[in-house]
Amino acid sequence: MAGQLVRCIMRWRILGILLLAITIEGAELEVVGRGGSRYQVVLPDQVKNKAVDYYLQLTGKLVVKCLHQASGTTLPLVRESDMEPDRPSIFIGHTEALRKNGIKPELLKAWEHRIEVRNGNIYLYGRDEGNWGMNSSPDYHQLLLGSVKAVTVFLEQFAGTAFLYRGDTGISVLPQEQIRIPESYSYRKVPVIQFCTTLGGDREQGIFYEIANNLFPGPWYFTYGGHSHPSAVPKKFFAAHPEYFALVKGKRVNLSQPQYCLSNPEVQSRIYREMLRHLDKGYQMVQLAQSDGFVACECKPCRNLYGVKDYGEKLWILHRRLAERLLRERPGKQVCILAYGPTLKPPETFRAFPENVMIELAPCDEEVIALWKDYRVPGGFTAYLYNWGWYQLEGFMPKMSLEALAEQVESFHRHNIHGLYRCGFGELFGLEGPSYYIWGKLLENPAYDRDLLLKRYCRHAFGLAAPEMEEFYRLLNERLKFDLPPGSRRVEWYRPELLNNQTPALIETMRLMAMRYPAEVIGRMDELLTRAEKRNSGELLSLLRREFDYLKLTVKVTEVFDRLRQSKSGADFQEMLTTLNARNRFIAQLPRRSGVKPPQIAPLGVFSLFGCPPVDHLENGGRLLGRLRAPFNWDVDWLSANRIQPVNRVLKTGAAPQLLVQAGFDVMKDVIKQQPIWLECRWDSRNLSLIFRCRNLSPEQLAGEEFQTIIGYRGKRWWFAGRPRRGIASFFEREKTNLETGGDGDRYRQLPQTTASVTLSGSKNGETSVTLKLPWSALGLEPFSGMRLELNAACFGRGHYIWEYNLDQKSYRNFKDQTGTLILE
Ligand SMILES: [Zn+2]
Repeated sequence: MAGQLVRCIMRWRILGILLLAITIEGAELEVVGRGGSRYQVVLPDQVKNKAVDYYLQLTGKLVVKCLHQASGTTLPLVRESDMEPDRPSIFIGHTEALRKNGIKPELLKAWEHRIEVRNGNIYLYGRDEGNWGMNSSPDYHQLLLGSVKAVTVFLEQFAGTAFLYRGDTGISVLPQEQIRIPESYSYRKVPVIQFCTTLGGDREQGIFYEIANNLFPGPWYFTYGGHSHPSAVPKKFFAAHPEYFALVKGKRVNLSQPQYCLSNPEVQSRIYREMLRHLDKGYQMVQLAQSDGFVACECKPCRNLYGVKDYGEKLWILHRRLAERLLRERPGKQVCILAYGPTLKPPETFRAFPENVMIELAPCDEEVIALWKDYRVPGGFTAYLYNWGWYQLEGFMPKMSLEALAEQVESFHRHNIHGLYRCGFGELFGLEGPSYYIWGKLLENPAYDRDLLLKRYCRHAFGLAAPEMEEFYRLLNERLKFDLPPGSRRVEWYRPELLNNQTPALIETMRLMAMRYPAEVIGRMDELLTRAEKRNSGELLSLLRREFDYLKLTVKVTEVFDRLRQSKSGADFQEMLTTLNARNRFIAQLPRRSGVKPPQIAPLGVFSLFGCPPVDHLENGGRLLGRLRAPFNWDVDWLSANRIQPVNRVLKTGAAPQLLVQAGFDVMKDVIKQQPIWLECRWDSRNLSLIFRCRNLSPEQLAGEEFQTIIGYRGKRWWFAGRPRRGIASFFEREKTNLETGGDGDRYRQLPQTTASVTLSGSKNGETSVTLKLPWSALGLEPFSGMRLELNAACFGRGHYIWEYNLDQKSYRNFKDQTGTLILE
């Protein structure tokens, strides 16, 4: 079995090389030669759809421009009725000349495109159409433009052109002495991946980049971007028709994500009519999907619906019945049913869908695809992809290796997947430009040679600096193959603690960075980039420099932090601050959109720099999984101004008080700065006293706060905690260390009450003192001058204040496991 698979892949790879390096025997036509060109570029006279016509004109101009850039020769661009009859022509789109050759382009499939050479003329055409839905809009996302695709293929294969990024400057044309094409050349392609869309805005890369690189719009498909039921039965119906909505615990409810009584015939009918509404406007396919955050209706007819228990199964049966009805009433039209949440698991009561059904897998990975192995889904599948975007563990750093991308595309082709949605794309056109380009080309044919594609990309993008940049990207790609152990990446995106930024991704993110980018790798990449910059000063390199510097500075923080965790030395702490400062300064000097709040990164020329995120996303390294925490969010100015080094602290009794810092790794709360707390210590032969000097907090406010201390001596640790309101402090002894609890923090057991007390001990000039007094006798210790004890102290309430900060914390359970040193004087 494995042997077969390998052979199969080998064969394809060879085919792939052939496709890229077209060597065709036989006579060739000279389109442009040393003496110029006899050719004219011809556009059709009559294009019914004005938007299609507009884009064909743009495309005609593109051909003229690219051929000029390649050869210095300018070809005339004319409408068909103005063409010179005895000149050979490059015909674009649905011309009369094409029809006279017996070709009916309206019969072509979605995004099908062709190049035909006949009698010295070149025909570049495909399915062009724009009659879906409302289409008066001149937006290419609402159009099928197969002829534009045919043109980009022609330019790439015969005129040294590559589409690297959006805008005019992103189209690179290498000089050609001659432009030739075989005289009986014929190229026909029906894309397997018929659409590959994303959200609009900064992620859009323009018509030529997207079409050339197979990121096709899917204008025939009406999608809600998720869920159709709420459009069929809007929330506002609740007042007049509560019976349409789900019965939960005996009551009809109108939830923020509305939920329905799916057995109600009127609800079913409305869901169906919503499908027709879009199909009858002209769309070819419509999405059919339950509400997000699905909640089951508990009414009797719903519980009995279709004689099955599982609500996912009920949804599948309902949706299949609607598809069957659609097949009878609108033959030829299609419906795309969502497999998500309760329907992520395929139906159990049937295995075949009607011929008009496509299924959208969200998420889509090998595990999900495998569930569908024995099902018949005539329309195939579409997939929702999480390849890029700064919500990933990598945040604003490169994500997938070329090998992983190729594997993914091979899986699409193997598993009948025809449409893609990209959640995230284009944030790093410098570091990931080749990945986007190569992935796009692989969508056309997963067997293309990735190495050739990388070479082609670098030659076009960096000219003389191509060798350095090839090496740069190869090295980066090798590093991207290092990953965390399998399983640690599988994410339930809806997890509330993730959405509330409470998951300590810190450790994983930093581990990943340390693994992928050791200092010598960063050094080598920097060296290659610097050499490339001497040979090329283009806008792409200047974008890449910014992306790389962000990577370098961020990785450096990780590296210094790791050293600091081990050494806890003053020198490393100072370097930590310097490194954080450098990263902060770098982010502060990036361009910002004017007048936008909260502040947002602005584009850099044609590029949406880092995807133009809110500035704090970049400062924090990303969002969701990508979010970095301490030390990245440390308030460097505050720490420096107050000369605080919150690790490996030393406090001498009777010496000046020291400021507490925030215990946890999240962004420091204002209260820590605005209502600061200082710690000092005193002792006598009976007691050890910790005095918390609290500024801007009234005695009433402080009475309810919890004051704590950890004292350690010769392997033993004790913990006292109490509130001034109660006056007494409870007493605990450590029974297991953080290591012994598997990272769950030191565990303590309570001991009998002692005379330990917590009291408000004075208030003046806005400063209130709280004293935690511990009897030496409880600890069984005889104090002496010069005695060194382990110490930590904390105040938990309005803020989480601590004296010694734990660099190794994973959660709140580890806050107080580290100690500094107390010296009795
Ligand atoms: Zn019901």
